Amino acid sequence: MKTGRNYKFWFCTGSQDLYGDECLKKVAEHSRIIVEELNKSGVLPFEVVWKPTLITNELIRKTFNEANADEDCAGVITWMHTFSPAKSWILGLKEYRKPLCHFHTQFNEEIPYDTIDMDFMNENQSAHGGREYGHIVTRMGIERKVIVGHWADQKVQERLASWMRTAIGIMESSHIRVCRIADNMRNVAVTEGDKVEAQIKFGWEIDAYPVNEIAQYVQDVQKGDIDVLVEEYYSKYDILLEDRDPEEFRRHVEVQAGIEIGFQKFLEEKNYQAIVTHFGDLGSLKQLPGLAIQRLMEKGYGFGGEGDWKTAAMVRLMKIMAAGVKDAKGTSFMEDYTYNLVPGKEGILQAHMLEVCPSVADGKIGIKVCPLSMGDREDPARLVFTSKTGSAIAASLVDLGNRFRLIINDVECKKVEKPMPKLPVGTAFWTPKPDLATGAEAWILAGGAHHTAFSYDLTAEQMGDWANAMGIEAVYIDQDTTIRNFKNELRWNSMFYR
Ligand code: MN
Repeated sequence: MKTGRNYKFWFCTGSQDLYGDECLKKVAEHSRIIVEELNKSGVLPFEVVWKPTLITNELIRKTFNEANADEDCAGVITWMHTFSPAKSWILGLKEYRKPLCHFHTQFNEEIPYDTIDMDFMNENQSAHGGREYGHIVTRMGIERKVIVGHWADQKVQERLASWMRTAIGIMESSHIRVCRIADNMRNVAVTEGDKVEAQIKFGWEIDAYPVNEIAQYVQDVQKGDIDVLVEEYYSKYDILLEDRDPEEFRRHVEVQAGIEIGFQKFLEEKNYQAIVTHFGDLGSLKQLPGLAIQRLMEKGYGFGGEGDWKTAAMVRLMKIMAAGVKDAKGTSFMEDYTYNLVPGKEGILQAHMLEVCPSVADGKIGIKVCPLSMGDREDPARLVFTSKTGSAIAASLVDLGNRFRLIINDVECKKVEKPMPKLPVGTAFWTPKPDLATGAEAWILAGGAHHTAFSYDLTAEQMGDWANAMGIEAVYIDQDTTIRNFKNELRWNSMFYR
């Protein structure tokens, strides 16, 4: 997933000159060791860059402004080694505009019982200094992540790694450009929204093009290029003819190959990272983009069906945040379709007309050509598969008229009990937390959509922190959700975010 930037995080240690040069030397040495070890750990997805200890107003202000100006700096990790009077931080923090982490750690893990004296305490007092610093960040109302624990503890490093991905989401959100080649589906409410407000809040640029402008790119694709790509499809995927004539089948697949190549060229030339389509607005395209969109999503493009630009941008955002996750299981556009309500086996079957990203697939992926029940085009080729098992999140961004709300549901993905041989789409099946009845009730009360951005590789905490950084409401539906408390939370939030 290319973002075009080589992101790094700055590590800034707070102190003051009250303790003398000897102490400051040790402060610098300790923070250098921490940075070195963090980088060596293999846990962090991005490099940490050591910065000289911050001890004065001027230096703090200068450093934060340099962080603002450095395109590759995705955030600042601050650590108060000693007591750093927090008034010194006000001007720097006020001018700082990037993600901020308060790493509340200390150099030594254990109290050195036998040797501890006042000098040691003065030198190693992050419990003291971290509170002074935390106070001013809270008083100034600045969003930041507080991570507590010893820096060498892998769990603590994993929290830092997780926050780094949130920070990348915050930074990259304002580089997302969504290409709309169709308006939102007529009469549909939940996929609508205020695009100007979305640009103000999230930095998204959301532009419309006549569908035939992109269809022209598809028509211009060379037959030779299509043949090469179809060969790739045929070598990579199972060809599930299901009684169709092999040559007729291949012609349908070729149409999708042309769409994949043409769409990608259009999006690259015009610098878009997400796209929406609509089965009812296809211009001169011969098929609803199915296989083509699935492949583009796998390459990192965001997608939303029926003109759903909010979900398209969220899918792109989540793909960026999850990029490079070790043993990644996938991120996709998804749609709640149908329930299994059998007691003990409750769940929601997820799919879309065609456009589910194969990154979530478990095992073999096949190509089928089947009619669409909607629209008036050729039978589109599509990738079919079932999805992986395990925990994941589904997120829905809705526009409530005066503000955005992000709804994040922890879900448990499972295998359906039996194969579904007549269902020609990629699917997932999950039980929302805390259970189907409570999860679905809460989702509906929150106004969540049927379209979601779904990922196995991100956490609700990461998405909620991103939403907080964007200044919008985030609600969690998880193991701890009860309807009574959730309704109150929605009521209270409606006051806070009015
Ligand atoms: Mn849909």
